[in-house]
Amino acid sequence: MTPTHLAYIVSAALFAVGLKRMSSPATARQGNLLSAVGMLVAVVFTLARAGLDYRWIAVGVAAGSLVGIVTALKVQMTSMPEMVALFNGSGGLASLLVGWAEFNGQPGPHAVPFLVAVVLTILIGGVTFTGSVIAWGKLSGKVYSGPVTFPGQQVVNGVFLLAVVTLGVLFCVQFGGGGTWRLMGPNTYIYLFVFGAQLLGVMAVIAIGGADMPVVISLLNSYSGLAACAAGFVIDSSILVVAGAFVGASGLILTSIMCKAMNRSLANVLFGGFGVADSSSGGGTEQGEAQAASAQDAYYVLEAAQSIAFVPGYGMAAAQAQHAVRELGDLLEANGAEVQFAVHPVAGRMPGHMNVLLAEANVSYEKFIEMDDINPIIESVDVCVVIGANDVVNPAARDDASSSIYGMPIIEVDRARNVFVLKRSMASGFAGISNPLFYKANTKMIFGDAKATIETLVEEFKAS
Ligand code: NDP
Repeated sequence: MTPTHLAYIVSAALFAVGLKRMSSPATARQGNLLSAVGMLVAVVFTLARAGLDYRWIAVGVAAGSLVGIVTALKVQMTSMPEMVALFNGSGGLASLLVGWAEFNGQPGPHAVPFLVAVVLTILIGGVTFTGSVIAWGKLSGKVYSGPVTFPGQQVVNGVFLLAVVTLGVLFCVQFGGGGTWRLMGPNTYIYLFVFGAQLLGVMAVIAIGGADMPVVISLLNSYSGLAACAAGFVIDSSILVVAGAFVGASGLILTSIMCKAMNRSLANVLFGGFGVADSSSGGGTEQGEAQAASAQDAYYVLEAAQSIAFVPGYGMAAAQAQHAVRELGDLLEANGAEVQFAVHPVAGRMPGHMNVLLAEANVSYEKFIEMDDINPIIESVDVCVVIGANDVVNPAARDDASSSIYGMPIIEVDRARNVFVLKRSMASGFAGISNPLFYKANTKMIFGDAKATIETLVEEFKAS
């Protein structure tokens, strides 16, 4: 066994332990660090191999670092979900290019497993790349966030997929079988794969939108790992196979968690056209008037409350209100109330979005309560404070069979004694549907930026 092999085993072990540690908020930072060290070891030992031409590697490292540093410095915290989508896409594109370059650089004849790995790398990498770019556009509001569908779409997608797979099989048979027949040259195949994969990525992701996006994001994350794994087979790098497999498998687990959170099967998400904007579920007028309240009104209710549940959503991230929320939570506890943070698995714009923000604000993890744990006791909660959440507390998902999010589990804040909804307007959330919660008798709307509202409440408590 060479020192490189030994180093790869150490790296793989660090990845495994790091991933395990990431599964709990208490140990997640340490897990992240361990995995990063594992990657550093893998990169150093890979680059230390004899016979490498470091000039292009240096150019790649310099260019990548420059782009990474500039983007990291410029990106707003609120744009992290879009950034994560672009990272996934970059991973896919890198794998695609590795597969392509390696095929071009190796003289034939090629072994069939190598060709299969090349095809998979280009296909999965290409789908990940364009799919992630579309996901980035949907998350950032640069393209329409709902599903784009047309009659016969699934048949068209199915035919595309079949055509690409058939081409892949022909490619492997033609160049790996040792035969002499030629349908077309290798470059033509590769161009067709690259084009076909990119098109498939676009077609697959435009069809999904609205409340289904969490599943797409986690699936693309998984694809980026699978593409890297296939690239590992192409360049014969065991550590890349291992790292890619970890990302692919954890992405699949996350996808399954997201599907469960939406109460949907993966097939249903991929082929169902869920999340179509639906105006039937609660047009404001037929539901009566929403009742507005001020932060001062809320203060009197909160001051007297014994149990309070904060329910954060995307608006908390947009307002960057997490630190103020933690401070308010501390003040409420000092006032004798029990404070909990009820986080929906798909709240925000990326898996774990709310957990990351609240952890950043040092909210103790014991204060978190799962959706399945709070719903059975929510009637006994004195006040639910909904901070920029909308879709994840929309009772139409439970009550209105015509709603596009019908069947999605929600945090049932409407069953609590009092509800304060902190948002700027009556606008809908990501799924584009109106919310009957805003018109319930026990709901008061506190209009304005969530951070400003929470800060006013904090001041009220401090002044009392
Ligand atoms: P929503 O997108 O449903 O609602 C967010 C609300 O925040 C909006 O209605 C908006 O109302 C309010 N808001 C925005 N800015 C502010 C601000 N500065 N202060 C106060 N309020 C603000 O968010 P949820 O978290 O409830 O639901 C997440 C949605 O996103 C779900 O549909 C989910 O499927 C989807 N999604 C989730 C992903 C994930 O991985 N978690 C990925 C992609 C999509 P107003 O404009 O009136 O202020």
